[in-house]
Amino acid sequence: MTVAPDFQFQNGVLHAESVPLTKLAQEFGTPLYVYSRKALNDAWESYRQAAGQRNVLICYGMKANSNLAVLNEFKNLGAGFDIVSGGELARVLAIGGDPSKIVFSGVGKQVWEMRAALKAGVKCFNVESEAELVRLAEVAGQAGVVADVSLRVNPDVDALTHPYISTGLKENKFGIAIEAALATYQRAASLPSLRVVGVDCHIGSQITEVGPYLDALEKLLALIETLAQQGVHIRHLDLGGGIGIRYTDETPLSPKVLLDQVFERLQARDLGHLQIVLEPGRSLVGNAGVLLTTVEYLKHSTAKNFAVVDAAMNDLIRPTLYDAWHSIEAVEPRGQSARKYDIVGPICESGDWLARDRMLALQQGDLLAIMSAGAYAFTMASQYNTRPRAAEVMVDGEHYHVVRPREPLHSLFASETLLPETK
Ligand SMILES: *Cc1c(COP(=O)(O)O)cnc(C)c1O
Repeated sequence: MTVAPDFQFQNGVLHAESVPLTKLAQEFGTPLYVYSRKALNDAWESYRQAAGQRNVLICYGMKANSNLAVLNEFKNLGAGFDIVSGGELARVLAIGGDPSKIVFSGVGKQVWEMRAALKAGVKCFNVESEAELVRLAEVAGQAGVVADVSLRVNPDVDALTHPYISTGLKENKFGIAIEAALATYQRAASLPSLRVVGVDCHIGSQITEVGPYLDALEKLLALIETLAQQGVHIRHLDLGGGIGIRYTDETPLSPKVLLDQVFERLQARDLGHLQIVLEPGRSLVGNAGVLLTTVEYLKHSTAKNFAVVDAAMNDLIRPTLYDAWHSIEAVEPRGQSARKYDIVGPICESGDWLARDRMLALQQGDLLAIMSAGAYAFTMASQYNTRPRAAEVMVDGEHYHVVRPREPLHSLFASETLLPETK
């Protein structure tokens, strides 16, 4: 058993659904991102079933994986989108996504991004500071429209996750401190080009326990009650903070457990009219993808054994950036003479590693699958060392489709120009 239900061994070969990964590597080369359409659908279904008939909007946190094929699949399933840039807005519009189901998050929204989002008619702006509020009021006023806003409130709760992906503590750059929220809401309500519609929070990513969500929820519900007393009526509560996935042996929180507890608390406080918005990213796509890579060289020394592979930190930065663990599977396991390996890429950085101290039986030319590479893999990829970004393939049963080809080498520098000659 691997960590991802749709990537399993059949006859000794790791498959994506019904397609052997060896076949995809042969046809498209490596490194190669391989996604499973079924995994996307199953992940969506777990949220849909959890929501049931309740008033829930799922806005896919698309920075996890913004390939148009992925976005389009979620759009067709009924998803809204959580965007963090004008570029992401353009992607959603490119697939004909419904702007009234877009929430716009992010601490640094620029004027052009605000204009584009107002023009598109997004559901709301998740505003993260008083300065942003003032700017948005100006931009909306100039455009002669009213912007729907929700304030991202920082509830000061510990999401019990990695510091780099924890966002709801006082010392994080995100959101408006909960103590300042009332005053900022009053300010928002006083600006004619703004309409207050929601309360938002985002406490972190890869969360595996319900406790932190409920701590945040209690604080936000108290805020919503106080706002109502002051005549500011909130329609939706956006509970950001991404449910985790299994990278190794985690037992992720289920969307149903989360939503059942959330609605129980809404009922208890007579706030059942609130729409709940969730912004899952990783949990919708993380285990729907793997990164295939080939062993180029083995280096054995007394201190360490290295497997130098053709994928690198530019294809998957999570290990070196977050000290993240990705499970490594030999696509055709050899079964004997395993050694402890560091899996490293060819980039000229000691930080270019993908996994450390893994027991594997390897030979040059072997194919490896780096698991759980559906989220924050391709979207964080770069062209460092002038390495083209790898192709992305979507498997669907026994079929497969290239949803983004490998970048041709010349495209990496085609738009660069030389300086004029010096006289
Ligand atoms: C990153 C992000 C998400 C998605 O987070 P996951 O942990 O991947 O589920 C959702 N909302 C906002 C505002 C984000 O920044």
